[in-house]
Amino acid sequence: MGERADIIVTGDVYTVDAARSWAKAVAIRGDRIVAVGTEPDVRERVGSAEVISGACVVPGFQDAHIHAAFAGRIRRHCNLDDLHTIPDYLDRIAAHAAAHPDDAWIVGGGWYTPLFGDHGPHRRLLDAVVPDRPVYLMNTDTHAAWVNTKALELAGITADTPDPWDGYFVRDAEGPTGCLQEGTAYTFWSDHVPADSTEDWMASICVAQQFLHALGITAWQDAWVRPDLLAGYRAVDDAGELTARVVTALWWDRHRGIEQLDELVEQRDWGTTGRIDAGTIKIMLDGCPESATGSMLAPYEGHFGEEHGRGIQFVEENVLREAVTRLDGLGFQIHQHALGDRAFRSALDAVEAARAANGWNDARHHIAHLQLPDPADIPRLRALGVAANIQPLWACPDPGIETLTRPRVGDRAERLYPIGDVVRSGAVLAMGSDWPISTPNVFEEMQVAVTRQVVVDGPDAPVLDPTQRITFAEALAGFTRGSAYVNHDDDAGTIAEGMRADLAILDRNPFAGSVYEIADTKVTATIAAGRVVAGG
Ligand SMILES: [Zn+2]
Repeated sequence: MGERADIIVTGDVYTVDAARSWAKAVAIRGDRIVAVGTEPDVRERVGSAEVISGACVVPGFQDAHIHAAFAGRIRRHCNLDDLHTIPDYLDRIAAHAAAHPDDAWIVGGGWYTPLFGDHGPHRRLLDAVVPDRPVYLMNTDTHAAWVNTKALELAGITADTPDPWDGYFVRDAEGPTGCLQEGTAYTFWSDHVPADSTEDWMASICVAQQFLHALGITAWQDAWVRPDLLAGYRAVDDAGELTARVVTALWWDRHRGIEQLDELVEQRDWGTTGRIDAGTIKIMLDGCPESATGSMLAPYEGHFGEEHGRGIQFVEENVLREAVTRLDGLGFQIHQHALGDRAFRSALDAVEAARAANGWNDARHHIAHLQLPDPADIPRLRALGVAANIQPLWACPDPGIETLTRPRVGDRAERLYPIGDVVRSGAVLAMGSDWPISTPNVFEEMQVAVTRQVVVDGPDAPVLDPTQRITFAEALAGFTRGSAYVNHDDDAGTIAEGMRADLAILDRNPFAGSVYEIADTKVTATIAAGRVVAGG
């Protein structure tokens, strides 16, 4: 017998190693996996230990694109994301305001854009329930905000206020309606809504961490980290309370240029500590086709095209090429947000310029979302060594696609989310939820990757291009070793001796049974770095 173990985990163990081998038991000592094999073999090697049993055991999930702290913040405030009607939203907002009489602002989010039709929600709906205090609520995709009249007054926004270059106010005959799109939503938040303190961010991070651990998630890349949030992450880690491993993608300020490089280097040096890797830069290249703000090669359809042209490119190509080249030269990983086909092409062009200038490196750049890439650009991912960071839950014909996307992009909707083509191209596939935009439950996300159908609608529901389906094994590899690769977490993502002990223990084997049962799979316990952090 070798050294003793602290915990032995038993079940059908899917290791996601290179051979995709199965085992029956995993032994853990400290924060490491010390044995993997059959149960008698593992017991022979490590003796007896606390045993945790499940139907199936997989590596802890890694979410490669998430706004965990931001989602935790919404959960701590006025959260609408479990409701489905406008009257329910208004009841919740009124009750929240009544329960928090001393809050100067009512903040939160989670409203679903398709419920409000083409023009989005109106400030008067909010005025009816909160007339006396400002209200600021982000929608589920976080590309828009809904504010009341009091908030517009405090911000000095009137019918004469022009639209900024990176967003727009939805307007009616009386002026701005209270629906803020893209840059207007972000600028309003940073200029007028009271900033969160480090303690506020710490509480939001801890709420998110507990929620994600319960879903088997042990590591993530937070895709929008400004200095105040980085301070929150560091404070949680310094306090010994960060049980997840986190990559903080530092926010590239599109209103500035390369003069911000020195500050980003300082943030990386200060923020990288303990369980935090602050070596990534997030560059947001466009909005989204649902509001005609995604950056497209050709104009939007009909009147959307007349009003919005080809959408908004947040970082012009020449600036982007220089920024990515300089950042790559400084050793940063670059995480680019690209929904439209022009944004996706410009993201690849920028990495191509960086490769030409700096040669190859191990930065593991990645592009998130890939909603409508031009098919000609997909092979360039592998050619340039860029990983695809996919949000699979969106790849089904949900009301958002049918009522918002399709009318704006027309026939181009036939090539939405080409995940199968990405896999066939040989590119590295990482996966993420973009929570709070959509659920971080990986089993719901993986079921959509496999079926391309809305989860709750079952086997007979419409399919979004079945040729783009991928296998469950491919999806699971995306959420484990693929995302671990993108997170530069070479110590995790597979179950093998010497790896960090990050495990998700499941109530059923999701490889067995129908693909329409994948989403029913529950996590019964989660182990992060050898500690039981949920269930158990
Ligand atoms: Zn995001």
